[in-house]
Amino acid sequence: MTGWIDTHCHLDAPEFAADVAEVRERARQRGVVHCVLPAVQAAHFEATRTLAHQFGDSYALGIHPLYVKEAQDGDLARLDTALAEHRDDPHLVAVGEIGLDYFVPELCASPLRERQEYFYVEQLKLARQHGLPVILHVRRSADMLLKGLRAVGQGGHRWSGIAHAFNGSLQQAEAFIALGLKLGFGGALSYERAQNLRRLATELPLEAIVLETDAPDMPPHWLYTTAEQRAAGEVQGRNEPGELPRIAEVLAGLRGMQAPLLARQTRRNALAALPRLLQATA
Ligand SMILES: [Zn+2]
Repeated sequence: MTGWIDTHCHLDAPEFAADVAEVRERARQRGVVHCVLPAVQAAHFEATRTLAHQFGDSYALGIHPLYVKEAQDGDLARLDTALAEHRDDPHLVAVGEIGLDYFVPELCASPLRERQEYFYVEQLKLARQHGLPVILHVRRSADMLLKGLRAVGQGGHRWSGIAHAFNGSLQQAEAFIALGLKLGFGGALSYERAQNLRRLATELPLEAIVLETDAPDMPPHWLYTTAEQRAAGEVQGRNEPGELPRIAEVLAGLRGMQAPLLARQTRRNALAALPRLLQATA
């Protein structure tokens, strides 16, 4: 069977608390051979690490911009300590999920705007210091993320990693690629109205693309519940890593290629973005 890698799913999320082992097994049966689990807050570092070990998957440690509000100043030191403590753990593949979110109004205004920018830059420094790739949250923030990568990377540092759920311009995509990153695409591709995103995912060099679900978020259209359906009592469909092959079929269709070839190439790309995956998936 074709072996897919879900480069971004949050199996530690409360949505999976009741049935995470079944969710992971279902993904395996559908051909998802490996998942990368990015942490979102210091309180979840251990849980994320434990899940990755339990399933033979990989994990990243970081503080997500949407969790900066609750984060303590000492959480950056906790991250530094955890990265040092687990440096020889082959399942630890990156610093993430880190980044900037200029979609949520509260995060665009003082003091949280400065605070998320501070957490982003400090975590980039930790990634560089520990020699790890980064997994980036990009929401209306591509230019500022690029600025941070350039500033912290000064002096010839070569970044690697993933700009996840990428939905920017071709020019921004090329800037991330030039800095050494891959771009993560997922369920958003399954919406016909997402024309810009679909065009981007079709025109970018195949070498630049990795696949992800961002489960439990970003449901593909076949799981999506509209506002009216929700008002009528239906619940929002939960995304899960087992949806990755079907999402990949959408991309294969857009690019006019066979799914097994897409699986092989995106796997190679994931290994280039997160070199320690090679040990973890061996
Ligand atoms: Zn995420």
